[in-house]
Amino acid sequence: MATGLENTMAIDPVCKMQVDEQKNAGTSDYNGTTYYFCAPGCKRKFDADPEKYLKSA
Ligand SMILES: [Zn+2]
Repeated sequence: MATGLENTMAIDPVCKMQVDEQKNAGTSDYNGTTYYFCAPGCKRKFDADPEKYLKSA
């Protein structure tokens, strides 16, 4: 059902929360993909070890 909302939700790879791409706390580009974070702490964890968060099945 279309609601007309234009917001695109992304998943924070660290904590798996949904993050509004317009209202995130930080982003990181890794391997050509942009990741969105709910909090600066999540971005810091991701930047320290991106592979750890990306290879979760
Ligand atoms: Zn988070």
